[in-house]
Amino acid sequence: MRFGMIGRQGRIFMAERFKIAIVGSGPGGLSAAARAAERNISHVLLEAEPHLSNTIFLYQKGKYVMDEPAILPLRSPIPFEAGLRETILGKWDESTAKLKVNVRYQHEVSAIQRRADGIFELRCQNGRTVEAEAVVLGIGLQGNLRKLGVPGEDLPFVQYQLDDPEAYEGETIVVVGAGDAAIENAVALARQNNVIIINRKDEFARAKKGNEQAILKAIDDGVIECYYNSAPEKVEALSAGRKPGRMILNTSNGRAQILLDRVIARLGATAPRGFVEGCGVVFPSKDPASVPAISAQYESNV
Ligand SMILES: Cc1cc2nc3c(=O)[nH]c(=O)nc-3n(C[C@H](O)[C@H](O)[C@H](O)COP(=O)(O)OP(=O)(O)OC[C@H]3O[C@@H](n4cnc5c(N)ncnc54)[C@H](O)[C@@H]3O)c2cc1C
Repeated sequence: MRFGMIGRQGRIFMAERFKIAIVGSGPGGLSAAARAAERNISHVLLEAEPHLSNTIFLYQKGKYVMDEPAILPLRSPIPFEAGLRETILGKWDESTAKLKVNVRYQHEVSAIQRRADGIFELRCQNGRTVEAEAVVLGIGLQGNLRKLGVPGEDLPFVQYQLDDPEAYEGETIVVVGAGDAAIENAVALARQNNVIIINRKDEFARAKKGNEQAILKAIDDGVIECYYNSAPEKVEALSAGRKPGRMILNTSNGRAQILLDRVIARLGATAPRGFVEGCGVVFPSKDPASVPAISAQYESNV
């Protein structure tokens, strides 16, 4: 059965029906879709961006992707092993085409509703609607990037992603954060820039072992300067002087100032909880870090 849906430009689209609709083409969603394709199950993979796996796509160029933790047994026909970002993305594109995974790019799902007949209706920002008997939500945790939360957080030289570390040379760059992304950015940028990392704790224990070792070595070798137990108070643009901005930070020894060209803050992201709750999925607590209550088969209450 097909239903006519009126899109944003007033055009009428027919809603297509699938057995499974998978939302998000990260390693989770892509694996589910590839498995459906391999088993000839009618499926559609809806991806918001014009390419697969946006979280991995946004890793810095040349990143070595580690394959830990290896807790889940892999059942997907999509290959995954540690390697360069570009190699991994290339292999995923190849396998997706080879397996004839039914991907729809630029289909950001904005609402999912279950009708009285049990069928799910998935509405996309582009006006399209698809119907499915089951939905796999693979939208990841990168809903909204966390910002600095201090005055100056939106200045033009304050950024929250790093595409290509090679694009910067001879700059003074302050990296804020102590997780894997912050460390990888700092270490890569330090090859041709003066890098200072701000860590609000006194260690880098949250990071993967390899990254922890790399940052500690860079600090020991004097390649990267680290402010431990410190947090930014504000970032300001400067109209005079040789640097476009400065950061004032609170350290364990009082306030400090760093003159800088660029700030790269890697503070993680808050999960898109509002969207998931809007689909009727229940969270067990108000804690922003909580994940939906699911069954042993990873099924939600909907
Ligand atoms: C900077 C960084 C470095 C990392 N390094 C490593 C590493 O070296 N090794 C490792 O194992 N892990 C690493 N991780 C973690 C890893 O990236 C995640 O565990 C993994 O990407 C999660 O996969 P996922 O499929 O759940 O979601 P994601 O990979 O986040 O994919 C979600 C997909 O859903 C799409 N999407 C979101 N909302 C919608 C919507 N409403 N409609 C349609 N599509 C939507 C997104 O565009 C995206 O393509 C890193 C994470 C970050 C941020």
